[in-house]
Amino acid sequence: MKNVAKVRIYPTIEQKQLLSKAFGCARWYWNNSLNATNEIYKQTGKGLSQIGMNNRLPILKKEFEWLGETYSQVLQSVSLNLSRAFVNFFEGRASFPKFKSKHDKQSIQYPQNVKIVDNKSLKFPGKLGVVPAKIHRMFDGKIKTVTVSMNSAGKYYASLLFDDGLPDVEVRSEGKVIGIDVGLTHFAITSDGSKFDNPKHLKKRTKNLKRKQQKLCRKQKGSNRRYKARRIVARIHERIANSRKDFQHKLSRKLVNENQVIIVENLAVKNMVSQRVAGVPPVVATGEPVRVKNHCLAKSISDCGWSKFTRQLKYKAERDGKIYLEISRFFPSSKTCHVCLNQVGSLHLDVRSWTCTNCGTKHDRDVNAAINIRDEGLRLLALGTSATANGRDVSPRVGRKSSVSKAAPVEIGSPIPL
Ligand SMILES: [Zn+2]
Repeated sequence: MKNVAKVRIYPTIEQKQLLSKAFGCARWYWNNSLNATNEIYKQTGKGLSQIGMNNRLPILKKEFEWLGETYSQVLQSVSLNLSRAFVNFFEGRASFPKFKSKHDKQSIQYPQNVKIVDNKSLKFPGKLGVVPAKIHRMFDGKIKTVTVSMNSAGKYYASLLFDDGLPDVEVRSEGKVIGIDVGLTHFAITSDGSKFDNPKHLKKRTKNLKRKQQKLCRKQKGSNRRYKARRIVARIHERIANSRKDFQHKLSRKLVNENQVIIVENLAVKNMVSQRVAGVPPVVATGEPVRVKNHCLAKSISDCGWSKFTRQLKYKAERDGKIYLEISRFFPSSKTCHVCLNQVGSLHLDVRSWTCTNCGTKHDRDVNAAINIRDEGLRLLALGTSATANGRDVSPRVGRKSSVSKAAPVEIGSPIPL
């Protein structure tokens, strides 16, 4: 089983310079390989494999001597990651690999040979050497890949991947089942009626951020004061991100602990929906797209946090041998009465609760949606890997315990703008 521990590291000035060089080299090599792959693809219809990328390295090192100053396995990791990014793209799990910018978060990877020294520092291969670290939590097993990163607030971290060589936990499906929906007014709503909100101090910090950002805007471009103000803004961003992360980790842990099966709406599929909707002529989907788009727009505010949250749910559930399932956003979770499956034509975003005209049940908008998500997930689980009601495949990938379902039920009139 694999575990990851992220620790803060404190490189010296010289080590920071070395890291900065390594970040630059890795970024340059990523962009260069990505460009080469694109060009070769245009000419031959085939891209570069990981080996193909690695084979270019000695030639590049001759041409650009400074490339040789970076530990070679760091560059080979770039080949591995880029070729993986292409595989993920071709298998539909990710978008096309992007060029990296020096304004983004910087990182490099050591595929092996990093050691913990006396529980207070990390020993890296190559010139970097021993870097002090704050190690508070470790796992059993061998250290595999180590990723060193620097965030925009100028702090350095190392993520250590441990492998204890033990088999992964067996999957169990009996027990409580929960559906979770992303809310308009709350961060998450569950099918058992609980609503979870972002912690209050987040709001205060966001206000502070706004003030500091205005200050930054008034500073002259290129000035030292502007540089300092930018660091301050980055630090507040980091603090907000940390408290959000803390909240999400606690909530995902609670939900995974208390339930055996966890069902959520899939965001990647949703993004596809809104893109598709944009290009769909209204004739095809009879006016539906406008509503779907609005719905997505309102939710997109919380999108970033939501996808991080579902990722946490997923890996925590997998690690504990529980089932995690994502259902498609095509599924009309808000507009369907979970009691009689009657579907209302439209439900304005302001409508917080509604009464089913068919069976008379009064619904809380969000809880009803979460219940529908749970029931739809259960229906898909009952179908297993077989085709669903409208003939599409549910697609749990082989060897994985969680799955993304592309299915949407036809029996209750799901709007699929194809
Ligand atoms: Zn009803």
